[in-house]
Amino acid sequence: MLAINHTLVGAAIGSQIDNIPVVVGLAIASHFVLDFLPHVDAGTEIKKGGLRPIVKYFLAMIDIFAALIIITLILFARPHLNREAVIIGALTALLIDIIFCVPIWEPWVEKTWPFSMIYKFHNDIHRPLSKYQYNIGIPLQLAIIAVSIWLLLK
Ligand SMILES: [Zn+2]
Repeated sequence: MLAINHTLVGAAIGSQIDNIPVVVGLAIASHFVLDFLPHVDAGTEIKKGGLRPIVKYFLAMIDIFAALIIITLILFARPHLNREAVIIGALTALLIDIIFCVPIWEPWVEKTWPFSMIYKFHNDIHRPLSKYQYNIGIPLQLAIIAVSIWLLLK
């Protein structure tokens, strides 16, 4: 799923729970749950051969940059939030993609145990849902963004 979805859900978890280890655990779990849902992102598109790698990485950078801006603005707008929990939630929610989807070290984690087990699981949960499910995936992703922002701003 998009980085903006992962980071906002992780940030929302951090905004509701002050216990950092619990935030980390839930944020990592949320990553797999979100990836299991129907969605579109640069990674699923490229598997179908729709996008060239340079376009995929450009879109991924925009995605991450947009997430950073939104979370930064929310932290300024809501100074009462536990910043540490929100930031840790956002980062750990994205951690799985940072560890397993960056091409520089992806070949290494794919082959090296125990990373290879998580790498395979992360790939497998995407596979049955990697078809173009725009009609379900895009509204679902927008709803996840809206609920996360609502939780962060309430
Ligand atoms: Zn992922």
